[in-house]
Amino acid sequence: MSLALGCIADDYTGASDLANTLTRCGLRTVQTIGVPAADFALPEVDAVVVSLKSRSIAAADAVEKSRAAERWLRGRGAAHVLFKICSTFDSTDAGNIGPVMDALQDDSGDAIVLVTPAFPGTARTVYQGNLFVGSVPLNESPLKDHPLNPMRDANLVRVLGRQSSSRIALVDLATVARGSDAIRERLATLAGEGVRAAIVDAVFDADLETIGRAALDHRLSVGASGLGLGLARGLVASGRVRAGDAAAGSVQREVGGAAACLAGSCSQATLGQVAAAERAMPVLRLDPERIMAGPAEIDHAVNWARERLAAGPVLIASSATADQVAAVQGRHGREAAGHAIEQAMADLAEALVQAGVRRLVVAGGETSGAAVDRLGLPGFLLGPEIAPGVPVLRAVGGRHGDMLLALKSGNFGGPAFFSDALDLMR
Ligand code: ADP
Repeated sequence: MSLALGCIADDYTGASDLANTLTRCGLRTVQTIGVPAADFALPEVDAVVVSLKSRSIAAADAVEKSRAAERWLRGRGAAHVLFKICSTFDSTDAGNIGPVMDALQDDSGDAIVLVTPAFPGTARTVYQGNLFVGSVPLNESPLKDHPLNPMRDANLVRVLGRQSSSRIALVDLATVARGSDAIRERLATLAGEGVRAAIVDAVFDADLETIGRAALDHRLSVGASGLGLGLARGLVASGRVRAGDAAAGSVQREVGGAAACLAGSCSQATLGQVAAAERAMPVLRLDPERIMAGPAEIDHAVNWARERLAAGPVLIASSATADQVAAVQGRHGREAAGHAIEQAMADLAEALVQAGVRRLVVAGGETSGAAVDRLGLPGFLLGPEIAPGVPVLRAVGGRHGDMLLALKSGNFGGPAFFSDALDLMR
């Protein structure tokens, strides 16, 4: 099997978002957690998104990890590799977008790399090389005060120029509006002048398709989920990927086994979803003070679940209102409380799987990350969406065999999210 598209994402949530976008465009997609082991059993898919945590680490580390991911993807036959960055171009003058791009370009042998973080559908547009977030330039958006990578310059030709050893130029909107061939000609001219990377304007989602078609002539591109969408549509339009219901594969075979939900998010949406779940399944609310005190609270929860799992799904929540959360944080500190409760939820996930749970729904971004790490899940095949941005996931290559998961950030999903998820997870 040869991959039509390989992607290297510089953070986990961005990787999930890209993998979901590709699936919705008709590409059967696996998302891996880190660079997979050599013996990773990759199912028959069109695209793989390797999730790294390389956005804010030292540039040399980001380069090394990204190169390892690229080697793995090329080894699986990936004809094109997208280095997936944030749509707000999160980076500093030290990197990591420029250094990673330079290294991957050296490996790929491309004369020039096409770069665009644009995703007009989510209000990220690029005009004359300037990135707009909604109606304001990047340097006037909330990103100007980002704690790790404050973005104080909206002109991406300049921003990337400070990070890369390459000469950077612009492919402007007038060129994009003339079509893929105009972009190809412009890139060839720029490459002839010694330019090694070009920021490409995009103001409408249709521009992404034009750009995607041109990008597929190359072995490497750099962009956000928007460029992923353009590349995916280009692959389907050219017949390189057969259009179909890409999401169906993950849920075609039922996994059976017990089902459980864990909620560690304290968002308004999750609090409402936990309350709604009380009408559909047994719900146990954990006492955060007792979680902090030791393992007894989790042992109690595991026993509570074991007694009920045979009869149907259960939900266990640490979720609490803002006042209750503030009280716990006041006594133990914000980070210590958050970390301890995440680890307790991971203990719970592990014990539930040992008790036979094969369908697991987790609410909370950090909570989900802790559970996935603990279960040692190396990757997922993406399935249909339960709610916008929240697909069913089929674990791939995990030590627990067949498993379905749903992992959601706090604010995602409608009021009946837990039941909606379990309806799709058979
Ligand atoms: P979200 O996606 O809503 O941000 P996360 O799981 O990412 O959810 O973050 C929720 C954080 O709150 C986690 O660190 C979790 O451990 C912590 N937490 C969960 N329940 C409580 C509670 N009752 N009191 C204090 N912190 C809690």
